Amino acid sequence: MTTTTTQTRATLRLADADSEVAQLIAHEDQRQRHGLQLIASENLVSAAVREAVGSVFTDKYAEGRPGKRYYSGCQWADEVEQLAERRAQALFDTDYHVNVQPHSGTQANLGVYLACIKPGDKILSMDLAMGGHLSHGSPYNASGKLYSPSFYGVSRDDERIDYDEVERLAAEVRPKIIVAGASAYPRVIDFERFGAIAKGVGALLLTDIAHIAGLVATGEHPSPFGHADFVTTTTHKTLRGPRGGMVFCTEEHRRKVNSAVFPGMQGGPLMHQIAGKAVAFAEAATPEFRTYQKTVCKNAAVLSERLIERGFRIMSGGTDNHLVLLDLVGKMTGAEAEETLRENHIYVNKNLIPFDPLPASKTSGVRIGTPAMTSRGLGPEQFLAVADVIADVLLGETTTGRERVEAICAHAAD
Ligand SMILES: *Cc1c(COP(=O)(O)O)cnc(C)c1O
Repeated sequence: MTTTTTQTRATLRLADADSEVAQLIAHEDQRQRHGLQLIASENLVSAAVREAVGSVFTDKYAEGRPGKRYYSGCQWADEVEQLAERRAQALFDTDYHVNVQPHSGTQANLGVYLACIKPGDKILSMDLAMGGHLSHGSPYNASGKLYSPSFYGVSRDDERIDYDEVERLAAEVRPKIIVAGASAYPRVIDFERFGAIAKGVGALLLTDIAHIAGLVATGEHPSPFGHADFVTTTTHKTLRGPRGGMVFCTEEHRRKVNSAVFPGMQGGPLMHQIAGKAVAFAEAATPEFRTYQKTVCKNAAVLSERLIERGFRIMSGGTDNHLVLLDLVGKMTGAEAEETLRENHIYVNKNLIPFDPLPASKTSGVRIGTPAMTSRGLGPEQFLAVADVIADVLLGETTTGRERVEAICAHAAD
């Protein structure tokens, strides 16, 4: 065997260069094809997005902003980043400034905090145990270690955000910034009301649309633009792009946000991911994507209704978006449900329900989302079958769960 230290762009394919990793990728591909991917934060990107992410842009250092880089040779990186920015603004129909460099949704949020508050300052956000996110002030996350968080939740009776309670807390706490957005909340979030509450107490408003960005882009959920000072999102959930984040802000925060992202908390941007983001934003602007998001929501509604018919309790009694939260109190723990479903090639995640008596390692619920399987072309009729196989598996009423999952997958698109 000849060895060489010269690394060229010659076409040595992964299967020949590294059969171990190639094997693992092949296994993951099979797992995705032959199972029901119902994790609400996941999606399946197009081949075009993957091609961009696997492109030569992975080789390029481009610290700085387009046109003002710390490295040379950035002319195409500049263009692809500016294209991503323009497409992001067009997609959300906004003239807010946008920075597409955050490596993830968490980074986007940290960028905002770093830009506009100081260590020790107060944050008011949704409780993680009620559907919020780690990056909204959890003690396990930098946001909770550096800043001083207070939390609002949902009301006991209808399990929806109690806006009067948020308003009361805001007046009491006097936070520098209010965070609106969630990871496990199946209802519409009233960003306009949040905007009024923030204004009323002189707080900034960060709306984190990580989960619902695709719905917002297509009008399936009201937009936070015009109400918020900052809008952050991931690009890989309902938006169906590569893993990553981005942050929008009003003009007055532009400079601080840019310098918080770099050099504040990141080094070089991931230009290959940014190229993938540009591709995804163009895809999300198409009529097909609009139809897709409508179906995502319709499928979640069908799933929810069917599970209720089958005797399950759904948090808040239904859903307005792409996910449902199944309450398993009295039946099993969320961890047990996740495992039982996984054995049948159905992938969901255990999730705390509001006022959950169990810890996060067990939980009393599972979160089920429709974005990924809707990307494979499943419609409401197939989601009835999905709901039934979930119900039968959880109630111990079937021994053929895997076969039924395989049959659903066989009819789905690649
Ligand atoms: C998923 C999510 C994030 C973080 O995304 P990562 O890319 O995993 O860091 C932030 N906020 C909310 C509300 C989320 O759901």
